[in-house]
Amino acid sequence: MGKDALEPLIFELSSPGRQGVRLPESDVPPYELPAELLRDHLPLPEVSQVDVTRHFTHLSQLNMAVDTTMYPLGSCTMKYNPRVNEDAARLPGFALLHPLIDPDAAQGALCLMYELQNFLAEIAGFAACSLQPAAGAQGEFTGILIMRAYHTDRGEHQRTKMLIPDSAHGTNPASSAMAGLTVVEIPSDKRGNVDLTALKANLDDTVCGLMITNPNTLGMFEEHIEEVCHLVHEAGGLVYGDGANMNALLGIAKPGEIGFDVLHYNLHKTFSTPHGGGGPGSGPVVVSRQLADFLPGPIVRAVEDADGEVRYEWYMPPKSIGRMRAFHGNFGMLVRAYTYIRVHGEEGLRAVSQHAVLNANYIQARLRDTYPFPHGERFCMHETCAQGKIAGAPEIVALDISKRLMDYGFHPPTNYFPLPKIVPEALLIEPTETESKQTLDRFCDAMLKIAEEARHNPKLLKDAPHTAPLKRLDEVRAARELVLCCAIPS
Ligand SMILES: *Cc1c(COP(=O)(O)O)cnc(C)c1O
Repeated sequence: MGKDALEPLIFELSSPGRQGVRLPESDVPPYELPAELLRDHLPLPEVSQVDVTRHFTHLSQLNMAVDTTMYPLGSCTMKYNPRVNEDAARLPGFALLHPLIDPDAAQGALCLMYELQNFLAEIAGFAACSLQPAAGAQGEFTGILIMRAYHTDRGEHQRTKMLIPDSAHGTNPASSAMAGLTVVEIPSDKRGNVDLTALKANLDDTVCGLMITNPNTLGMFEEHIEEVCHLVHEAGGLVYGDGANMNALLGIAKPGEIGFDVLHYNLHKTFSTPHGGGGPGSGPVVVSRQLADFLPGPIVRAVEDADGEVRYEWYMPPKSIGRMRAFHGNFGMLVRAYTYIRVHGEEGLRAVSQHAVLNANYIQARLRDTYPFPHGERFCMHETCAQGKIAGAPEIVALDISKRLMDYGFHPPTNYFPLPKIVPEALLIEPTETESKQTLDRFCDAMLKIAEEARHNPKLLKDAPHTAPLKRLDEVRAARELVLCCAIPS
């Protein structure tokens, strides 16, 4: 930031000698710092504690957040994060553990990880689990390396092709390319399923596997998923499941039983550990029996000693692809997800998915006569894909609608994903199960009102948001050239 730009707020508050904390008298002898570490003048703000608290609280209020409003960002599962998760993660016995502690002194933490491995394997119908990956995308990369290791182990080095439906999340082709594979795109058919003819045409002995999201990012359950898995297996390939949409399936369908070989979870989506703000995520990977030996480690196993007492220990699978991450994954996230699973139990998790699917269908039903839904003739799963096109308002695009929604106090849905070549002007809406009918109705009312405004006063949408501290940004530039320290012009 140049000198002429807006002065940072916290610096404006600065007043010489003002102090936020008073340190106690030193109880150790003073030590002279080496000359090269000394600075004449550190340009730090001198502010009181209340100034700092208000400054950061104010900044936090400029954002839309799950804690302040409905956040229907499709594919991201922005559900409410129950506070009991935070209580558990802050228990000193978990929060203060050193990752290099002797396992004998951390049996509680290892037990939690062991049980979480088992829960995650059970929920999706798989044999084994590794909690290492730090997020969904790293889970994908992990799963693909496992698939490659499996083929290589069988001498099938030529399997270097990954088939990916065109509705896939951008991380899918990116992770495949990172693992050295060639990506082949498979088109979707008119009903939002994988085009079986195109799939068959690409199946041969160079296929490493198929990477598929089910329900897919159109919110559609793949109607031929068993056949799809069967065809890939018949060609000697493996099926990778992008589990980002598991919020639709908990307690209802198990990908491992449908025919998937490997799947990642996003604990920060399905299992309510917070995500956003670049905070830590967690992307555990679950696999079928034949892939278990390739999992990244160390993972936790239980052993019984001579007295019949159970002990938990670290274990490296015999053909492991190695470590994916320092230490043991984002442990705090594991505690939160574990808590969420234990609080809900089997019935509760099933209810989560049932309500998530019901809520999305409710929105689809209420908006279907006003907005186009490319697959609106089908029931959707936990999210629904609309188009930001309004009859009688030809100049309005999805972005205008999203920006106007902010004036009504809602975070926008996901814009322009799925990609325009599949759904032009996509608005992917995922309410999650944690929104009440009243909130869903307020959201739908706002969407209907916006459609009316678009016809009578399109400029209102074009200039939106009107209530946000900053108006329309050049979003690409704003993301690349972050300006985090300047005062908001009033
Ligand atoms: C979120 C998401 C991912 C990537 O997960 P991250 O945890 O953000 O790395 C991959 N695929 C789909 C479908 C997603 O929604």
